[in-house]
Amino acid sequence: LQMVKRKIALLGATGSIGSSTLEVAIEQGICISFASAHTDYRKLIAIAHKHNIPKLVLSGIDDPALLSSLRQDNPDLKIYAGEEELLNLLRNEDYDIALNAITGSAGLRSSFAIMERGKPLALANKESLVMAGHLLTKLVKDIPIIPVDSEHSAIFQAIGKHPTAEIKSLHITASGGAFRDLPLSEFPNITPEQALTHPNWNMGAKVTLDSATMFNKALEVIEAHWLFGLPYSQLSAIIHPQSIIHSLVEFIDGSFLAQLSTPDMKLPILYALSYPERVASSLVKTDLRTLSNLSFREIEPTRYPLFFLGLEVAKSGGLHPTVMNAAVEAASALFLQGKIAYTDMMWVVYNALDTVPNIPHPDLNTIIGTNKEVYQRILHSKTPRFF
Ligand code: MG
Repeated sequence: LQMVKRKIALLGATGSIGSSTLEVAIEQGICISFASAHTDYRKLIAIAHKHNIPKLVLSGIDDPALLSSLRQDNPDLKIYAGEEELLNLLRNEDYDIALNAITGSAGLRSSFAIMERGKPLALANKESLVMAGHLLTKLVKDIPIIPVDSEHSAIFQAIGKHPTAEIKSLHITASGGAFRDLPLSEFPNITPEQALTHPNWNMGAKVTLDSATMFNKALEVIEAHWLFGLPYSQLSAIIHPQSIIHSLVEFIDGSFLAQLSTPDMKLPILYALSYPERVASSLVKTDLRTLSNLSFREIEPTRYPLFFLGLEVAKSGGLHPTVMNAAVEAASALFLQGKIAYTDMMWVVYNALDTVPNIPHPDLNTIIGTNKEVYQRILHSKTPRFF
């Protein structure tokens, strides 16, 4: 199918990946058959009018009065509400590929609806694989899950048609986030504003905070494990402060292949939507002459405890990646609300893992139930640090 003729279902249209996808869609003349957002109806409706998207879903809105007024004011749009209606559209609507850019655990069930229908899934929601990689990867038939995460897109491109047996290691690069050079003595006083500033990438709040703690990189190691079918002993992460090399594949003969570009999500999005082809684009430009220095450094355990805790949890697998992810989502919310310190987030997660017993191969309902329970318990606890 030609790129321009592809019809996309865009989930999470109002976020950062959503905005970049809309820019790619404009340049490539791609049609969006429907788009979803959690609650930001003003932005989603504006997007629909600008991009001629006929159908919208507000997955987090259930206020009948608000919905009927939105429908009255926008007679040209079909407006759906709630997660069930989003899943219904994913199961029944006409589209060629779905891009899931929903933030966090809320994107899980949509990934399953897309894969169960046998449609190509361009995945920006890493939590789908972190929480349920053992179930979601079982649904892969002819088309692999196409990564939108920049590191995994880089690895996906570098691997090409090489079989897993020819790969020695995957090296996932990390910027090191907002605090890679901050003295450790200043960590207890880190403010939400500081944590929401990323040195290289322009991203949503959740992933920017997860980059600062490097919890994001632990999630990405788990994501790579499921996407590329390699054991944790063949996966590693390394700090590359310039964010130009998006990740590297080391082959058994000693060669490394990497993918390089200016850090801009439009490129992995474009590749995911045009895969297996490459199409002409002038959205992202990289001038090699401006790149004077590409460096690497080791990840410090004391600076990034959530990364190392995340790796341990990754290796144990089962239900614990879900417990960890829910605890980080809740701890992040509490930190951003000013209720706990930056350095407390790690203790919230540690205590949640200590409290909830692990289960080896949880089913989807157990995963969804545990995620909700852990998140709510932490969010409403009087002493969240101790769960
Ligand atoms: Mg990434």
